[in-house]
Amino acid sequence: MTFRELGLSEKVLQAVEASGYTQPTPIQAKAIPEALAGRDVLGIAQTGTGKTAAFTLPMLSRLEQGRARARMPRTLILEPTRELAAQVEESFARYGRNHKLNVALLIGGVSFGDQDAKITRGADVLIATPGRLLDFSERGKLLLTGIEILVIDEADRMLDMGFIPDIERICRLVPFTRQTLFFSATMPQEIVRLTEAFLHNPVRIEVAPAASSPAEITQALVASGPGADKRETLRKQIRASGNFKNAIIFCNRKRDVAVLHKSLLQHGFRAGALHGDMDQRARMASLDAFKAGEVDLIVCSDVAARGLDIPDVSHVFNFDVPTHSEDYVHRIGRTGRAGKPGTAITLVTHLDRRHIADIEKLVGRSIGWLEGASIEDLGAAERTEEFRPRPPAGRPSPPRRSRPAGESRKPHDAGRDRKPSKTNGGKVEHGAPDQRRAQNVANDRPVVGMGEHTPGFMLRPVKLRPKIAEEAE
Ligand code: AMP
Repeated sequence: MTFRELGLSEKVLQAVEASGYTQPTPIQAKAIPEALAGRDVLGIAQTGTGKTAAFTLPMLSRLEQGRARARMPRTLILEPTRELAAQVEESFARYGRNHKLNVALLIGGVSFGDQDAKITRGADVLIATPGRLLDFSERGKLLLTGIEILVIDEADRMLDMGFIPDIERICRLVPFTRQTLFFSATMPQEIVRLTEAFLHNPVRIEVAPAASSPAEITQALVASGPGADKRETLRKQIRASGNFKNAIIFCNRKRDVAVLHKSLLQHGFRAGALHGDMDQRARMASLDAFKAGEVDLIVCSDVAARGLDIPDVSHVFNFDVPTHSEDYVHRIGRTGRAGKPGTAITLVTHLDRRHIADIEKLVGRSIGWLEGASIEDLGAAERTEEFRPRPPAGRPSPPRRSRPAGESRKPHDAGRDRKPSKTNGGKVEHGAPDQRRAQNVANDRPVVGMGEHTPGFMLRPVKLRPKIAEEAE
């Protein structure tokens, strides 16, 4: 199959050729003719499958007719994060090089004024994150009644980030007659409901079974102790990796991203960081340095890294085992893209070994251990553990609740992307309340009051002044 057979315009075909693509990917082959015919599309596909071009190319072809009016964009693409929005903008620049289209970006963290000027001029393509879009619309600076094509990308990520009510509001602001192109890597119940409410007789295209891990990726587990041990294990693994070019390293919490980043720099690695507490400029600078090869490691949190298209990543390291197995699939999908080989190595401590079974169930295979270790060997790591919460005497720990398929994670799920503690400068102190809480959360145990932690000042003996002591007697 060639791009020419899909019915794209001559201008688009020339741009595709200039990009060096010779064959459409499966999602492109299936979605492009349907999108060109004006049908709604429900695409179940992960990033890395070429889904951005699957909606960008037919949009460009269709936009060749007609013109944008002031404050009334013609097409709207919703993305969950600023980085993804910026990435889609790059795609329009690449594939739309032969078109004279106004592309506007509405994302948080960027000045209102510049964005407003672009919208006022009239945008053919508006790429937005939901919050900033609604802000503009509510201030009367934007009219969504001219939208001909609506794209909702990474819908399951929108769900994770708590954007579904915003998406519903936006869907009601755009005309009923628009065409909708909807993409999601997985189809939890809330997303199914959304597609039933807002898509009209869509063609359903599924290119890889939801939550399957790409075959090109070599996956392995490595046993480790926690804390400093873990950082040492990671360094060892990075140094020992064959065919190493660069790596994305995932942590479960923002605080740990900062700690690990600092540690890697101290050990002489060229490393960057990416997490939600960094401002937009710093995030883009980190990402650009990684893409340009100025650093070969980038330490990330899930939310910051989800869906980013960084071609040619040789390794993914899970510094922490993700507590939600779907995140494992998304993380390792950063490597082994476009048919290139990739390696994903996961560090497993005694505390997180129980998540491995869920992950193996989801990916449908068992993952091998490096260095002849096994899940049983993790008991040895226990001896070096800095802290391991135990249930208070007489109170059995509640059974772990695994998330049923389709149940959403809350926008600010406990234990994910926590803020660094202001009092300790981001350092992990043994037994610090934050750490204890995080550990308890990792065990799905509710934290009551101060949990098992009694602050030192409460244990200090108190000397009463003689008068008060007398009264007290
Ligand atoms: P996406 O899934 O949209 O994030 O795309 C993943 C990567 O595949 C991007 O780097 C694209 O540039 C690349 N890509 C998209 N379509 C093709 C194609 N037909 N042939 C080769 N690479 C492609």
